[in-house]
Amino acid sequence: MKPAALVSMPTLSPRFPSFQLALLQATLAREGIASDSYSLFMYFAKQVGWALNESLATMADSMIGEWIWSRAAFGAFSEDDGYFAAFPEEVSRTLAAGACTLDELRRLREVDTAAFVEHYAATVNWAKYGLVGFSICFQQLNASLAMAKAIKRRYPTVPIVFGGSTFEDDIAREVMTGCPQVDVVHCGDADEVLPELARRLAEGASLEGLRGPMWREAGGVLRYEGRAPNLDRMDKTPVPDFDEYFQACQETGFEQKVMLPIETARGCWHGMKNHCTFCGLNRQGMNFRAKSPDAVLELLRALSDRYGVFNFNAIDNIVSPEYVDALFARLAEQKSDFRLHYEIRSNLSREKLKQMVRGGVYSVQPGIESFSTHVLSLMKKFTTGIRNIELLKWTSYYGVENLYILLCGFHGETEADYRQLAEVLPKLVHFQPPVAMGRARADRGSPMFERPAQHGVKNLRPARCYPFIFPAERFDLTRVSYYFEHDAVAPLPEEVHDACIRLVDGWRARWHSANRPWLRYAKGWRSLTISDGRGATPREVRLRGEVAELYELCAEARRAEDVRERLGDPGWLDEALAELVSDDLLLHLDGRYLALALPANANH
Ligand code: SF4
Repeated sequence: MKPAALVSMPTLSPRFPSFQLALLQATLAREGIASDSYSLFMYFAKQVGWALNESLATMADSMIGEWIWSRAAFGAFSEDDGYFAAFPEEVSRTLAAGACTLDELRRLREVDTAAFVEHYAATVNWAKYGLVGFSICFQQLNASLAMAKAIKRRYPTVPIVFGGSTFEDDIAREVMTGCPQVDVVHCGDADEVLPELARRLAEGASLEGLRGPMWREAGGVLRYEGRAPNLDRMDKTPVPDFDEYFQACQETGFEQKVMLPIETARGCWHGMKNHCTFCGLNRQGMNFRAKSPDAVLELLRALSDRYGVFNFNAIDNIVSPEYVDALFARLAEQKSDFRLHYEIRSNLSREKLKQMVRGGVYSVQPGIESFSTHVLSLMKKFTTGIRNIELLKWTSYYGVENLYILLCGFHGETEADYRQLAEVLPKLVHFQPPVAMGRARADRGSPMFERPAQHGVKNLRPARCYPFIFPAERFDLTRVSYYFEHDAVAPLPEEVHDACIRLVDGWRARWHSANRPWLRYAKGWRSLTISDGRGATPREVRLRGEVAELYELCAEARRAEDVRERLGDPGWLDEALAELVSDDLLLHLDGRYLALALPANANH
């Protein structure tokens, strides 16, 4: 049987190996099917320069990493100048990052991208493969279409297969209809289907009865027997094979430290019950499935032994709750030096976070999204503002990189929500700031997209970058786009959000300046000295005796009743709480009191 080729096209950062290629290569090998991987995004990055590629690969409203491939994929259909006028700031940022001119960017889109695919179509003998499979994630579709077109022109009988998380039947159908160079688009988990698909394509057999592929029959009629079923047991997936990626690193001279992607779970246990209204991830794959802790340990061991890598990026959408005790505690016991990134739910207690940190978690992406409990309820987060702030406090204390965002623009939110947020934000500037604050989008597959009326969404339309990326005469843009713009049925005045966005911008600027704000306390025997560097003039506040005890008690957010019970109902309590709150040392939110100062002692 002929081997398979697996291709990952630009525009991706070379810092992120393609997990899909590595997993599918190992999956095919286990079934006795040979395959070759081609991390062509690495070679493109080398060709255009690491810095320019990094900027192109960064997701932005302009989707510039997709746009630069639109000419190579479809020929001339939109003018560069219209695009430059639509996204002046993002284009300028890219030019600055890549130290290139506008003419060089034009040339990249008009000449270099086409030359890149022609080169690889001509120098690889694609005829030796039973299929050429493209793994497609964000900003990889047009480059993949361009490459597939170039291969098909030279090797018309080699089957071209597209797959990846982007594809559910809607986008798949548009690609199959508009792109004759693509023979099959696979929808759903490929783990169990790909080996059989590879066999049938190599033998020229019919795909009849196979769930996952969408293909064309004689006469051009599309056939699709439904999405491939979700892989039920994650322990079935093999150890991914990154050999080709590391070889590509050597060949291109890419020397940065790599965070190797691992996958320990699919789907989202929160979304199964409460699909966050803005979330377009997972789609039909929401059902949560996780590897057993033993299998994760084996995966980490195998990858670190083979590649000498200690940094891992879990591409899961949400960490499995059982890992806290059954995985991270064991990693901590082993005193391993693995460093892990995970996406987490924000309602993680300090103790659990500490356990994860001891187990090697040094970076998290929690679904914080807001500090307003009302807004959180509108987006179906089912947590509170104070819990989110508590998590932020402890990630700051433990030095965990916290990659969170704040969102606004949800149906039913009020001006009071943002007035409250605007009061809270300045008190938090000694904690890590959000990566950004922005308006919620109705991404394809999200509840806001699927049921717009219910979420106060109207005039849903493809994001404004798409007419520059896909030719409208060939595609129905509403079916091929992932990002959308919309109007709110009952919007708040823009300045209501803008006031908070400005506060976040200021927070970020101060945090990244030489003068990072602080608020911490040193503990004596029965007193605390609080050093407050959040304002223009630093100050020191001393708390003594019972008040110091009260402040320490509020290290975790507590209700007044709880504090009263623990302190034996002292008469001074209400006044002390009120004073600490008015002095911005305690935060009173959602009926709880939280001490804002971090312990100066790193071993608390
Ligand atoms: S935003 Fe996160 S928690 Fe919410 S449904 Fe999506 S993946 Fe799950």
